[in-house]
Amino acid sequence: MKTRNIPYLSFNGMHDDIEQELIEACSKVIKSKWYILGNEVTDFENEFGKYINSKFNVGVANGLDALIISLKCLDIGPGDEVIVASNAYIACWNAIHAVGATIVPVEPDPQTFNLDPSLIVSSITKNTKAIMAVHLFGLVCDMDAILKIAEEYGLFIIEDNAQAQGAQIKTKKSASIGHINATSFYPGKNLGALGDGGMISTDNQQWAKKSLSLRNYGSGEKYINEYIGMNSRLDEMQAAILSVKLNHLDRWNQERIQIAKWYDQYLTNNSSLKKPKLITNGSHVYHVYSILSSQRNQIQEALKLNGIQTLIHYPIPPHLQQAYAHLEYKEGDFLIAEELADKCLSLPIYPGLSKGDVKYIANKIVALTN
Ligand SMILES: *Cc1c(COP(=O)(O)O)cnc(C)c1O
Repeated sequence: MKTRNIPYLSFNGMHDDIEQELIEACSKVIKSKWYILGNEVTDFENEFGKYINSKFNVGVANGLDALIISLKCLDIGPGDEVIVASNAYIACWNAIHAVGATIVPVEPDPQTFNLDPSLIVSSITKNTKAIMAVHLFGLVCDMDAILKIAEEYGLFIIEDNAQAQGAQIKTKKSASIGHINATSFYPGKNLGALGDGGMISTDNQQWAKKSLSLRNYGSGEKYINEYIGMNSRLDEMQAAILSVKLNHLDRWNQERIQIAKWYDQYLTNNSSLKKPKLITNGSHVYHVYSILSSQRNQIQEALKLNGIQTLIHYPIPPHLQQAYAHLEYKEGDFLIAEELADKCLSLPIYPGLSKGDVKYIANKIVALTN
């Protein structure tokens, strides 16, 4: 049998289909002769806001900046503590560090890979200001429980929606629930630009105004600087591209969900594999389809020999990264995050991946693990 060549991610199924629309969007920007903070950014901010039902939406340069600016809007800085998952993506930790606040890691629920609400309360101190709720892999956090805790202790919630664009929590879309929320449009995200991009979403006008200023040198009015701001603007070209792609997001997410169902189906009755579970009232848009196995490295190697590319999200948890050596954490401090890092494997998932390919991948895994 011919070996297949299945990449971890392919844009073929998304971009080939809409290439003409993308070219027209770029061409419109070129001809407009206006490249920074123009109509395309404003239009996309409004369209995204309408899609998630959020009043104020501010396009920024990337997801990390969206998190940093969100924290700055809430006046979070030195002496303040922010609760975040011990297995979150490094950007979440970096954003908290960037504003000078203290990172307070809390272990995830091993069933969902997301912040375990039952462990949050014991980490709250008088200095706790916010909970960063990262919807890892596209599965939404248990927002009901997190909201209840935040309300009780007077904390802010910042959703990190970088991996969950289009996900639902009851009748609401992710990134419309926390006080101020961040999204990334890195190309590989479910809604990705053809370069970098990000968004801040909030219903609070004052924070929206501050975000607008902070993304543009701390200036609301040209050459009048209220804050020491950043240069973190979403550009016109990316905004135009994102406007086109937003119209296809639901369809692409449906494809991801269908692919996940096929994996679920072909990988069932395999007791040595674990997959993240859905929580009630929340959806999963499968930015990542992850399995857990103590034979992870052998599985990855065998899949590679069969032409299947996989990734590990993420091989080293933030507390064991050299960048955070100064926090003096050691192995064993966050056992769940460490176990996930040792066992998780992300299988190929993207619009256009065929049922036959999913079956081929799953069969290889089943053959190895049964
Ligand atoms: C991608 C990602 C980010 C950072 O986004 P960039 O646009 O790459 O800066 C932040 N948080 C999570 C959970 C992500 O997946």
